[in-house]
Amino acid sequence: MEPKHFQHKIEFPKASDLKSFNRPWDLHSHTTFVDGKNSVSEMISSAEKRGLELFAITEHVRSSAMKWWREYVKEIRERRQNRKVEVLIGMEVNAIGEVGRVDATEEMWHDTELTIGAIHGYYDDVSWEKIPNGSLSREKALMYEIDRAVGLCYHPQIHILAHPCWLFEMHYGEMPENELRMLFRAGRETNTAIELNGYYLKYPKRFLKILQDENPMVSFGSNAHSANEINNVWIHLKDILP
Ligand SMILES: [Zn+2]
Ligand SMILES: [Zn+2]
Repeated sequence: MEPKHFQHKIEFPKASDLKSFNRPWDLHSHTTFVDGKNSVSEMISSAEKRGLELFAITEHVRSSAMKWWREYVKEIRERRQNRKVEVLIGMEVNAIGEVGRVDATEEMWHDTELTIGAIHGYYDDVSWEKIPNGSLSREKALMYEIDRAVGLCYHPQIHILAHPCWLFEMHYGEMPENELRMLFRAGRETNTAIELNGYYLKYPKRFLKILQDENPMVSFGSNAHSANEINNVWIHLKDILP
């Protein structure tokens, strides 16, 4: 496996080192460019106020997001100057179409400093989060999601697998252990960090136990859609870390 391409190399901790990892990072957040409630500037100020060391703004992109992408990059470049927190220009890409494909343009790949990959819906013809025609067998949904999540891990420019299992667990309950292990192993083999997500960890204790057992690298994302949610991942995690 080729090493991942990074503009800013990040030394993610291994899952087994989580307990001793105490650096304040939040690598998943959104702004008013798409569906967040606060501007780039407000998000950065909040990250700084909360004492973060590293903060990434990872706006949802699609190829059609080129309308605002340049403005977004410019805005972060300007607003991050002279701050106590290091701020990265990031993006959250969607798995679409066949396994391994995501929806972003050349220019986005050129500008981004951190990319998180996610699965937000089944097949491309249905809206976000919905099950097509109201029905999809558990087996098919599981296969769909695992194939695409592994595909995201094998993408050379995706650094973090965002909110793994979220879509499946929302509709079908707990992700089976075998598949969860398969996912974490793909993360480990490809040096893709598995995200601990402040919003979407439905079965955190079990998730963490298996994660530490398979031991891929991990990342931390609040998925903050407003300034006061920044760093929330730690609030949820500190009670359950073994
Ligand atoms: Zn997402
Ligand atoms: Zn997100």
